[in-house]
Amino acid sequence: MTAAAHLPGVDSRGADSRGADSRGADSRGAILTIDLDAVAANWRLLRDRLGGAECAGVVKADAYGLGAERVAPVLAAAGCRTFFVAQIEEGIALRPLLPDAEIHVLNGLFPKTEILFEDYGLIPVLNSLGDLAAWRAFCAGLGRALPADLHVDTGMSRLGLPQDEMAALADDPGLLDGVDLRLVISHLACADEPDHPLNGAQLAEFRQVRRALPGGRASLANSAGVFLGPDYHHDLARPGIALYGGAPTGQGPNPMAQVIGLQGKILQVREIDTPRTVGYGATHAVAGRRKIATVPVGYADGFLRSLSNRGHGWIGGCRVPIVGRVSMDLITLDVTDAPADAARPGALVDLIGPRNPVDAVAADAGTISYEILTGLGRRYHRVHLTGRPCVGT
Ligand SMILES: *Cc1c(COP(=O)(O)O)cnc(C)c1O
Repeated sequence: MTAAAHLPGVDSRGADSRGADSRGADSRGAILTIDLDAVAANWRLLRDRLGGAECAGVVKADAYGLGAERVAPVLAAAGCRTFFVAQIEEGIALRPLLPDAEIHVLNGLFPKTEILFEDYGLIPVLNSLGDLAAWRAFCAGLGRALPADLHVDTGMSRLGLPQDEMAALADDPGLLDGVDLRLVISHLACADEPDHPLNGAQLAEFRQVRRALPGGRASLANSAGVFLGPDYHHDLARPGIALYGGAPTGQGPNPMAQVIGLQGKILQVREIDTPRTVGYGATHAVAGRRKIATVPVGYADGFLRSLSNRGHGWIGGCRVPIVGRVSMDLITLDVTDAPADAARPGALVDLIGPRNPVDAVAADAGTISYEILTGLGRRYHRVHLTGRPCVGT
């Protein structure tokens, strides 16, 4: 046990709340702080926003890189009863941690996997009439109607029954006989652009689907869909990114609490007083006296190479730009303007934090928060904040 284990609000695997050294953190070049209380607060905010509709939790891809085995029980404790994963294996891993929850598998059935759904009590999202026929046959073999969802494509052209299959099902609803239909879902392509005409078009098509297929409960909204208003809420919403602090809409201030912080530890500080270049490709030229700090975080840690000469960190209240290329294990920052006592070996630079939240880092990198989160590396020392009295609403 480290001393930090006794601090309130920090679990036994962690360092203290803002990354000061503990034994576990000493040897690592960077500390990833995951605020589980903020995840719970974000779920409650979405639940309240949904009024009467149920708020599920999407925990696919290891809860967007944050650790599904830590995140899912926290959501369950907050009141979440329905979870979505992408892959069967993700559902199997979560089953013992969520004994009472519904776990829905978005990618649905692969041939011969029906038995896994039965064994682990998982619910497949059926994506075609072929999937439906396979599930019916499986249920018939067992002599029991097992739960399943139907995904209907209303405009993504990715997963779900295409229009012709939906029409065939509407003509012959008996195709669902012997199946315990739980959810009828569809997925929005442009929910983060509230003015995009595809939102209304998909909503209209989904309403048609519901008229033709009124069984089960209806679910259309992802995180951004929750903010499109009550028309989009239906019976259940499936937020992912907003739980993890990503801005759910492209507009206005982000209503979600920030969940992650990333701090890199300065390895070396170099004073340059003759003209030189920094890093691979010599893409950054130094003229005059500058101080360059090297931090052991690189693209192998999911710190994207597109942040070369673009991103920045914060140290001692000072913005410090990333100069030169992001390499596999290292970045270099110009810390000339930071206080000398803050920019020294062993000091921490905020790479993702209150002043550069995940959406800002994503924008600098030319990507979206989803990609930054799901790419977070395995070499970071992970600190989970949990059990503090109250965060946000
Ligand atoms: C990933 C996913 C979600 C969650 O989307 P967010 O934009 O992260 O809220 C919801 N539904 C489906 C079908 C998904 O694939």
